Amino acid sequence: MPKTLSFATRLIDWQRRDGRHGLPWQGTREPYRVWLSEVMLQQTQVSTVLDYFPRFLERFPTVQALANAQQGEVLALWSGLGYYSRARNLHRCAQAVVAEHGGVFPSSWAVLQTLPGIGASTAAAIAAFCFGERVSIVDGNVRRVLSRLLAFEGDLAKTSAQRDLWDLAQTLLPEPSAAPIQDMVAYTQGLMDLGATLCTRTRPDCERCPVQTLCQAHASDRVTDFPVKTRAPKRRSERWWLLCWFDPSDGGWVWLQTRPQRGIWAGLHCPPVFSDEAHMHAALRAVVPSAIEHWPAVSHALTHRELSLHPTVAYGSRQSLEPSGESGVWLALGQLSTVGLPKPIRTWLNQLQPK
Ligand code: SF4
Repeated sequence: MPKTLSFATRLIDWQRRDGRHGLPWQGTREPYRVWLSEVMLQQTQVSTVLDYFPRFLERFPTVQALANAQQGEVLALWSGLGYYSRARNLHRCAQAVVAEHGGVFPSSWAVLQTLPGIGASTAAAIAAFCFGERVSIVDGNVRRVLSRLLAFEGDLAKTSAQRDLWDLAQTLLPEPSAAPIQDMVAYTQGLMDLGATLCTRTRPDCERCPVQTLCQAHASDRVTDFPVKTRAPKRRSERWWLLCWFDPSDGGWVWLQTRPQRGIWAGLHCPPVFSDEAHMHAALRAVVPSAIEHWPAVSHALTHRELSLHPTVAYGSRQSLEPSGESGVWLALGQLSTVGLPKPIRTWLNQLQPK
């Protein structure tokens, strides 16, 4: 490839030739599908999204169908993808698109960002893929590619450096052409593909990289120095005692509460949570179960917290176990797939043995 070809031209050629094709959210200019895939792909592997994306679309084929759903059903379909604020925002965003934009996604990057849960990069993906707007995505993968390409020394833990990199990203976009939408689609997809397949976090495959001769980090043999990012603050640790009231008869029943709308696991179903062991034992004494099992503690990392979960199962009949003065529901084990559950809770409840 001649050395004079621009970054954008190389990337577009490479994407068309060697990039990823045939993913179910590619080849469409429908904002609903592009938006859904973008939100699912944040912090989640493509292989996992391949499983969830068609199921979600089957149940909610349009933004209107999603807007009309109950939040609980959206969270249930999201179960296992983690980072549930994405699902809650997805639902709120669908409602905003219907209420404020007549069910049609706005076509500009600037307006898209006014919707709940749509940040600059997701807005750029929708604007570029669906409307051909000349605006650059800059998600985590793309920041890594561009910071290596440009040997960008700014600390990407800082918003000001992220803004500077975005300004530079805008200068790399393809020139306006006779086929602006097709070029922006291939370019945007190329950025994603390069970050996902060659310019990976560890051991980037520079030998096969289509922009190697333009890459400043590679030229100076400093690939591993980029991106520059100071350490994320340490996660705070917290201990939770979880008390599962379990009636093993009739296929097995568990008593679950809905978590508050704010905070950890907001809106999801969960056994009662106690912040100290003494309160959990007081709740146990008030009901007198037929048997008690303390299960091994498990660790669960969230973005800002490290949870140490201490599960206890209290056995008995539904009539004898019903905790007084608290709101919750008895759910059959067979119904658990219909509600949103945090991943470690689902793993735990799946191990309960009915009679
Ligand atoms: Fe990334 Fe290597 Fe390509 Fe530079 S040459 S963009 S470091 S894969």
